[in-house]
Amino acid sequence: MFATLSDRLTSTFKNLRTKGRLSEADIDATVREIRRALLDADVAVPVVRQFTGAIRERALSAEVSQALNPAQQVVKIVNEELVSILGGQTRTLNLAKNPPTVILLAGLQGAGKTTLAGKLALHLKGQGHTPILVAADLQRPNAVTQLQVVGERAGVPVFAPHPGNQGADDVLPQGADPVAVARQGVETATARQHDVVIVDTAGRLGIDAELMRQAADIRDATNPDEVLFVIDAMIGQDAVTTAQAFLDGVGFTGVVLSKLDGDARGGAALSVASVTGRPILYASTGEKLTDFEVFHPDRMAGRILD
Ligand code: GDP
Repeated sequence: MFATLSDRLTSTFKNLRTKGRLSEADIDATVREIRRALLDADVAVPVVRQFTGAIRERALSAEVSQALNPAQQVVKIVNEELVSILGGQTRTLNLAKNPPTVILLAGLQGAGKTTLAGKLALHLKGQGHTPILVAADLQRPNAVTQLQVVGERAGVPVFAPHPGNQGADDVLPQGADPVAVARQGVETATARQHDVVIVDTAGRLGIDAELMRQAADIRDATNPDEVLFVIDAMIGQDAVTTAQAFLDGVGFTGVVLSKLDGDARGGAALSVASVTGRPILYASTGEKLTDFEVFHPDRMAGRILD
């Protein structure tokens, strides 16, 4: 996903390495190239401004002028600032003191929530947890079935709107209420002693008030330990606006970047943590349930600057 950005930054640093001591003009030229590379990669403007400002300030300081290898020191600064933009430290999942831990997934339709539910369940199962999935996406008729398929693949149970709703061509009951389903799902998880409940919620194609209200109502009914906002990294600049709308409308505690395997420019996804102030916890990198990683800001920065 970050191939072009990565290439541009690498060639900027290659130029820099041909120089010994760095003049202010060298640093300004480098900062300009970094700025251009970030903007071309769709990194949000305020993030670019903050990032390049910090790099310029540090690059002009004694930290660089007194370094044995000034160019190398600039690369180190860029790396550190990139880690900081991506959220700094790796943030682990917040587990409830009194299980079950409730994790609510929110995001637009097609963002990758349902797939992520299965990936996260499989990942947590591998760590010895006993997750259950709750199908509170009642917007699309086949969303429940899709979650059941994902649950079956991950080998975890799925709580669905009504008893016996296990068949592929099952029809949702008229007027099934996603808030009630979510609440019952958490109650069922507690009764059956599952230690993690992952609630899949509905998305729409665009941001709309009713969607936000429904997600907020589900949040209030389930009192989640984590609300994870799932964002399709392929949607470019819209990622930042969408993230901000969900932050205002529902609130979230962490971000999941999905479709990082795509060939989009990726900069918008890089901006989400910085713009919302919420950490990225996981990355989704393909359609298979194992295409999933815990997000480490330092490793991601390393990959981009490699
Ligand atoms: P939801 O509407 O948010 O629940 O999104 P889905 O989980 O149904 O995903 C929408 C589409 O994106 C499906 O076709 C998924 O197979 C696909 N998808 C989900 N995550 C990824 C990913 O990380 N990479 C790729 N390439 N496709 C993904």
